[in-house]
Amino acid sequence: MTDPIPSTVFNPEEFDTYVMSTYGRFPIAIERGEGSRLWDTAGKGYLDFVAGIATCTLGHSHPALVKTVSEQIQKLHHVSNLYYIPEQGALARWIVEHSCADRVFFCNSGAEANEAAIKLVRKYAHTILDFLEQPVILTAKASFHGRTLATITATGQPKYQEHFNPLVPGFAYVPYNDIMAIEDAITDLDEGNSRVAAIMLEPLQGEGGVRPGDRHYFQRLREICDQNDILLVFDEVQVGVGRTGTLWGYEQLGIEPDIFTSAKGLAGGIPIGAMMCKKFCDVFEPGNHASTFGGNPFACASALTVLQTLETDHILANVQARGDQLRTGLKALASKYSNLFSDVRGWGLINGLELRTETPLTSMDLVKAAMNQGLLLAPAGPKVLRFVPPLIVTAAEVAEALHCLDQAIAQVL
Ligand SMILES: *Cc1c(COP(=O)(O)O)cnc(C)c1O
Repeated sequence: MTDPIPSTVFNPEEFDTYVMSTYGRFPIAIERGEGSRLWDTAGKGYLDFVAGIATCTLGHSHPALVKTVSEQIQKLHHVSNLYYIPEQGALARWIVEHSCADRVFFCNSGAEANEAAIKLVRKYAHTILDFLEQPVILTAKASFHGRTLATITATGQPKYQEHFNPLVPGFAYVPYNDIMAIEDAITDLDEGNSRVAAIMLEPLQGEGGVRPGDRHYFQRLREICDQNDILLVFDEVQVGVGRTGTLWGYEQLGIEPDIFTSAKGLAGGIPIGAMMCKKFCDVFEPGNHASTFGGNPFACASALTVLQTLETDHILANVQARGDQLRTGLKALASKYSNLFSDVRGWGLINGLELRTETPLTSMDLVKAAMNQGLLLAPAGPKVLRFVPPLIVTAAEVAEALHCLDQAIAQVL
């Protein structure tokens, strides 16, 4: 493809003088994108299998999103929730009509959506669950729920909690996909005025290594929650909005959560977060929770366009087909380099390629090599490569990505 826009000069040292160093950035700066392709300031092109970390659902510069964003900014972008926002109502209605939820609260990010869910669980426990004074939320080891204080506490990975004590009380951790561990924890944590009020899990663990939930585990979990008056909360921040080949991740497991959250892909890269719940646990009243930016006309119109485009363009069918194609190709690479890789797993267009523990190679080594070959990938922990392209990725682009990865692997061997 030709490059009509002249490349610009970018100076990383100057950037680092002014911006706090919270990220280990790659030494490139992306300037422009189209579909599943990106170009950096030096004019080099890339196939984007990161999609803003599973966020750019419709890829870059999608005509439908460009149109909505341009029209909405000229009409109205923000007024606050002191007034009714028709775009927010329309988006909530779409979500309710296309999910198991009855009500929606809007905010601006995944962590905020999870905070809202945590607050809802606590109010439900204090007001409905026999006025439970010390509600505990069970979460999984290797989970990821965000970077605020409550959500790093919910996150079952000590590396995200280090340096930030004291954490938020009321959380306990169990291994993922292990039903015995859940049963034991429910019994062990039941004492005095404390007990498990909710279990919060990802239907597929994203950040923690692209680990799909086990259907039997989740179906048994649903029964346990029903029998024990425990709320089942799903963090769908990464897997919701078509990423797995179904609109919501919970559809892969054949059960419905009571509460679930969404963010990353919801507005295709425009910041938004949402917390959905069933009517019976909608205990929020005016004053309980709020967000200044949450649910503004700009973000909501963008999300509605993303969701409607998923439907009109039959994008879920593409996610399923491209996901199958990608996993087949990754399995072929895993057997070609069987001394390097131990597993290929995922649903739809969230997939992981796991490196053997014995190999000294890390996921970061391969991410860098792939970048040299013009393919952007993200690690999911030290040993897993994550593939989360835009949901509009084509068959030719998946084939090209697999070819680039093959070259990258050959380069690091
Ligand atoms: C990314 C992510 C979050 C955090 O979302 P932010 O928008 O970065 O706050 C929470 N949960 C899961 C599963 C995620 O993948």
